[in-house]
Amino acid sequence: MFLADHRLDQLLRQEAHGKVKRLPAAYIHIPFCEHICYYCDFNKVFLEGQPVDDYVDALVKEMRLYQENGQKISVSSLYIGGGTPSVLSLQQFERLMEGIRDIFSLKDNGEFTVEMNPNNVTDDLLSLLMDAGVNRFSLGVQSFDDQLLKRIGRAHTSQEAIRAVKLLQKKGAENISIDLMFALPQQDLRQVKDSVQIGLDLDIPHFSAYSLILEKKTVFYNLQRLGKLPLPSEDLEVEMFSYIMEEMEKAGRHHYEISNYSRPGFESQHNLSYWDRRDYYGFGAGAHGLLNHHRYHNHGPIQHYLAPLKENKKPVIHEKALTIEEEMEEYFFLGLRRMSGVSLTDFQQQFGYAVEEIYPGVVKKLVDSGLLAVEGERIFLSQEGIFLGNNVFAQFLREHANSSE
Ligand code: SF4
Repeated sequence: MFLADHRLDQLLRQEAHGKVKRLPAAYIHIPFCEHICYYCDFNKVFLEGQPVDDYVDALVKEMRLYQENGQKISVSSLYIGGGTPSVLSLQQFERLMEGIRDIFSLKDNGEFTVEMNPNNVTDDLLSLLMDAGVNRFSLGVQSFDDQLLKRIGRAHTSQEAIRAVKLLQKKGAENISIDLMFALPQQDLRQVKDSVQIGLDLDIPHFSAYSLILEKKTVFYNLQRLGKLPLPSEDLEVEMFSYIMEEMEKAGRHHYEISNYSRPGFESQHNLSYWDRRDYYGFGAGAHGLLNHHRYHNHGPIQHYLAPLKENKKPVIHEKALTIEEEMEEYFFLGLRRMSGVSLTDFQQQFGYAVEEIYPGVVKKLVDSGLLAVEGERIFLSQEGIFLGNNVFAQFLREHANSSE
């Protein structure tokens, strides 16, 4: 197939252009949670009874297996996510951080994030993390409304979230992000407004705001099937999203990705590398990585993850070389999530084809229907397109694009 044969050509062209390969990012997964939230389909397990010590040791071993000749791995950012990383004990964190220090070399001013649940934030834990170089903290707050927190199965209260933010600030942490959710069962606009205002009053520089998505195998999914989940109407959901976008802009948190808002300079460097399709390592049970045009996926169940590592083997269950078609699709799927969109020139430089050759008529159709906007050689989601992102992305699946020719 002509596009697949084109791979070597593409690589040579990148080299000829002197395209400097950027450092990869590294994601480290802690899959344990103290309780399971009703909406969550993330890659996680209930903490009790899990071999957490073994897991931490295995993680460090896995990271070592990626070192070449014992050399430190240079990375642009580190991100410990979950699950709930903050359920690790101080000793477990110490061991993990020691491993990370030994194995990685984080570029100057590189971002090092840890996700935390508010009820786990203590003075001692923050001291340990900050001493280890963590410079960004992401708190799973979801809402500052206690009733709502209970309704969605969160284990913390709004007071605990406020206390966690204040403690972080007292300890000198500047780069703090909180997650908020909207379109939750029985949530009204007032509750959304209150949570946004409390977050802004706390002077938090970065917000992620997600609408509830009903995923299979969650408590909410089952309740919905039984007709017992009173969700806000679609119109109200749009109103909530619009309110969040407007308030964030007014407060100087610019909307830089569909679900993310930040004061200038506080954008998540780690997440930007996903949307830019830069390489990243994924360590831990069920983690995904992208290295050198290959996506890989680790074993998910904890015991399946631990077993190969006992024999000093990488716990990769699946690895796939991306075809150039898949890379082109990802370019749009991921790149259009950023409000700055994608560059038509960059696409041509990366793949050796003009967008119009690969997706004839698609950009024009989306611009004409008001879902995409164009500025110079960049295309990005319009205001309307932001609400219908998935419809826009689907147009860049090549099969779909070809069938609409
Ligand atoms: S939302 Fe976070 S804390 Fe809740 S179950 Fe999912 S991973 Fe665990």
